[in-house]
Amino acid sequence: MKTIDVDRSLCDNHGQCAIAAPAVFRMNPAGILEYEETFEDGLLDEVEEAIDVCPVQAILLKN
Ligand code: SF4
Repeated sequence: MKTIDVDRSLCDNHGQCAIAAPAVFRMNPAGILEYEETFEDGLLDEVEEAIDVCPVQAILLKN
């Protein structure tokens, strides 16, 4: 399992991460980001894509 954190003070809730890695990130009906803090190793490629496309570098891969 891998762990991520999102810096809410940076996140603009535009949802690019949810497009890149929908198994881990989603926008709730209020338009606010929700995400899984831990995810299976097999999702690492798409999570790394989400990290790359985040315009404010709010996503941190912790391990
Ligand atoms: S791409 Fe970055 S700024 Fe946009 S919703 Fe995801 S974490 Fe927030």
